[in-house]
Amino acid sequence: MTGRRVMTGGCHCGQVRFECTSDLAMVTACNCSICTKKGLHFTFLPPNSFQLRAGAESLKSYLFNTRTINHQLCGECGVDVFARGSRGDGSEVIALNVACIDGIDLAQLTMTPVDGRNR
Ligand SMILES: [Zn+2]
Repeated sequence: MTGRRVMTGGCHCGQVRFECTSDLAMVTACNCSICTKKGLHFTFLPPNSFQLRAGAESLKSYLFNTRTINHQLCGECGVDVFARGSRGDGSEVIALNVACIDGIDLAQLTMTPVDGRNR
């Protein structure tokens, strides 16, 4: 998968829908507690490459640990769709759960190991 392209996606029940632009060059395989327990693989996007198209009212926030990452879950089906966080310089970043992209095949992605457990 090469080149930036526009993709659509959403949660399992379909209430939450988004559009994003990404090359999926960097997808995490993180060993932290939440990524491990939920099987999450994130890619990071600037806020202008991610548009929530539907379901803002269905989203529930989940905060833990340092509470700096605001995980956004569908209140109906419980799927983690994305998270809002900030980079070291304070700029906003969207962590998108790549499994929510329409038609994604996780086995075709190159995963980048991230040692979130020891951060
Ligand atoms: Zn849902």
